[in-house]
Amino acid sequence: MTEVEERHTILAETSGGKYTPEEVRDLEMGLIADAAAQEQEEENAQAAGYCYHCGEKLDDCTGYKCWIR
Ligand SMILES: [Zn+2]
Repeated sequence: MTEVEERHTILAETSGGKYTPEEVRDLEMGLIADAAAQEQEEENAQAAGYCYHCGEKLDDCTGYKCWIR
C-alpha cells in the first residue's frame, strides 16, 4: 500500500464508514481541483486589477479579510 492509499484508508476509517477509501480519494482530488481553479480565478482578477475576494479595485481593497463588511 502506498502512503497515499494508506492515508485514504485511515481517513475512510475515521469517517466512521461514511466514505470508502476510493470516495476519500475522489473527494481529495476534487478539493485539489477546486483549489487550483480558485487560485486561477484569483490570479485572473488580480491581473484585471480587481480583488477576487471583495470585487473592489485593488487600490480600494482593504486587504485583510476585505470580504467581511
Ligand atoms: Zn479585497
